[in-house]
Amino acid sequence: MKNSKIEVSEGTALPVMEAFYTIQGEGTFSGSPSYFIRLGGCDVGCVWCDVKDSWDAAKWPLWSVDSIVSEAMKFPSRTVVITGGEPLMYNLYPLTYALKENGFRIHIETSGAHPFSGIFDWVCFSPKKFKKPHPSIYEKADELKVIAYHNSDFAFAEEHASKVKPSCQKLLQPEWSKKENMTEKVIDYVKSNPNWKISLQTHKFMDIP
Ligand code: SF4
Repeated sequence: MKNSKIEVSEGTALPVMEAFYTIQGEGTFSGSPSYFIRLGGCDVGCVWCDVKDSWDAAKWPLWSVDSIVSEAMKFPSRTVVITGGEPLMYNLYPLTYALKENGFRIHIETSGAHPFSGIFDWVCFSPKKFKKPHPSIYEKADELKVIAYHNSDFAFAEEHASKVKPSCQKLLQPEWSKKENMTEKVIDYVKSNPNWKISLQTHKFMDIP
């Protein structure tokens, strides 16, 4: 039997905070039924984080890659979203290979704060001011999703937009607790800068997890 620390470092077992079938609420694939795999562990430390419970990886059980995949197979959608926490803290090649072998389309949501690993059909890169992204994320990002919490986030968004590939979708999303104040600013910004689009947390409006 393998040591669990070795399995985590190899990516053959991962701490899973929760895994559930729902509707993707935000970003380019908003409205799509998807199976979410939320990995435990994050060292980014966003002040407005709505999943602070995810930060300590040791709180969550280790699941083998095989058990993660067999749970995902129980649901009708063949789209999985790997999120966190910060999923790129782990080697995601074993999990993504196994999901691909079983016919899944694989998306990731990441702050990009760690070196990129894994094979994905869609990479949602959501940079955070609290920990600088690793340079490997820029060529991988299919979607740049910047959370608008403060006025300075528009300049922050442009800084990252200048580094992603031309085909990358650029999305601004009002932070939920600041939505009264930031939604109007996001609307104005996108109208003046039409290379950006708005992303809303529709799952929160619909009250689904
Ligand atoms: S990167 Fe995500 S999980 Fe980590 S602190 Fe920020 S919002 Fe929370």
